[in-house]
Amino acid sequence: MEYKVRIIGDPILRKKAKKVEKIDEKFQELLNNMTNVMYKEDGVGLAAPQIGINKRFFIMDDGKKLRKIINPEIIEFLGDEVVYEEGCLSIPGVFINVKRPEGIKVKYFDENGNEIEEELHDYTARIFQHEYDHLEGVLFVDKVSTAAKAKYKGKLNELMKEGRKIAKELGEVVIE
Ligand SMILES: [Zn+2]
Repeated sequence: MEYKVRIIGDPILRKKAKKVEKIDEKFQELLNNMTNVMYKEDGVGLAAPQIGINKRFFIMDDGKKLRKIINPEIIEFLGDEVVYEEGCLSIPGVFINVKRPEGIKVKYFDENGNEIEEELHDYTARIFQHEYDHLEGVLFVDKVSTAAKAKYKGKLNELMKEGRKIAKELGEVVIE
């Protein structure tokens, strides 16, 4: 199956995603397909809702390691809030500074069903938080002021229209 990246305006991006119940071979294959989509689109992270799936998982590659993250939890926020410019495959062409905690302590399952607990910092923590937000139906443009978004107003309206159109064509991708 060829997955298409969903664009802001698609209602799937606004849903709170549901827990993954089963990590089997079929699911691992889906994660591999998703990884190909992420690399093809030059992304550093891709969450399930972004390919139309209402489930709690995402993949991320901070340049050091590819992680496949299932049913994640953020246990603790660490350090000061830092500002960093973010973009999103679901909001192409829009880049805005977003403030987030520098570090996080997280828990999740990997693609083999192992429970992982780790502390993430800097860029890695940044990607994780951005992708985690996708599972809550939150987009990075929700976290910035109207003034910061002002120059993208027209662009965002255009993308919303496109996103709604794609949603109508493809609907939600239901996996077991
Ligand atoms: Zn994103």
